[in-house]
Amino acid sequence: MHQYFTDTELSTGMTWIPDARILHHMKDVLHMDNDTVRLVHEGKAWLGHVVQEGKQLSVIIDEEDRRYNELPYDLTLCIALVRREKFELILQKAGELGASRIVPFVSSRCVVKEKKEKADRQKERWQSILLEASEQCKRNRVPSITDIVSIHDLKQYTADCNVVPYENAYGASPMLSTVLKKGSVSCAIGPEGGFSEEEIAELNAMGFQCVSLGRRILRAETACMYSLSVIGEWMEVHEDIHDR
Ligand code: SAM
Repeated sequence: MHQYFTDTELSTGMTWIPDARILHHMKDVLHMDNDTVRLVHEGKAWLGHVVQEGKQLSVIIDEEDRRYNELPYDLTLCIALVRREKFELILQKAGELGASRIVPFVSSRCVVKEKKEKADRQKERWQSILLEASEQCKRNRVPSITDIVSIHDLKQYTADCNVVPYENAYGASPMLSTVLKKGSVSCAIGPEGGFSEEEIAELNAMGFQCVSLGRRILRAETACMYSLSVIGEWMEVHEDIHDR
């Protein structure tokens, strides 16, 4: 079953007309005809069936789908700018793994430079990667992405629990899963060249606690997936009925 996000408010029995992007996907990519689809408007999901009249496809809404496929607490991923393909892979996986907000930041060892003149187009592309990942894994929300910020501004994006995975922390700092507690989490991951000692001191002063992801030094994209998986599992295991 495929899912699409829509700006249209939905209700049982109504007919929903897809926009050009979704129509193309339903018709030309998936050749839908009488399929069941999941539509999500502002976090609320509905199931409907596709009907075809000539070249036009529409969806008749059958019932509300009460499954809520979100983590119980907000999860912010602050990620240093890394090379384009890796950054886009991180966005896709962060969408699938339940991040609610992405904060791209620049730090001293970033090899990728921010291109202000391309910022709007780049952000649109990033948003569409997050949208498609969220549709693919049937989330009820699409993660937000902020403008690119400086590492010095990450204090604004802190949560109940703040962690900075640091490869020099093995043996000196706890493993990520052991410091988590109920509530929102913000996790800051460094670029290919890592964080400088001064940056770690600054992040510590903002409230980010150093954690280890184990003995091996992971690439930034692996570190993101590892961290989001550990945090997501921890949240789901420790969730109780009042958390949503
Ligand atoms: N400076 C490192 C080097 O070249 O040896 C590599 C930095 S690593 C590629 C990128 C980021 O992933 C780090 O800033 C850190 O946030 C995270 N990271 C990678 N391996 C880690 C580990 N074993 N424990 C904690 N964090 C890790």
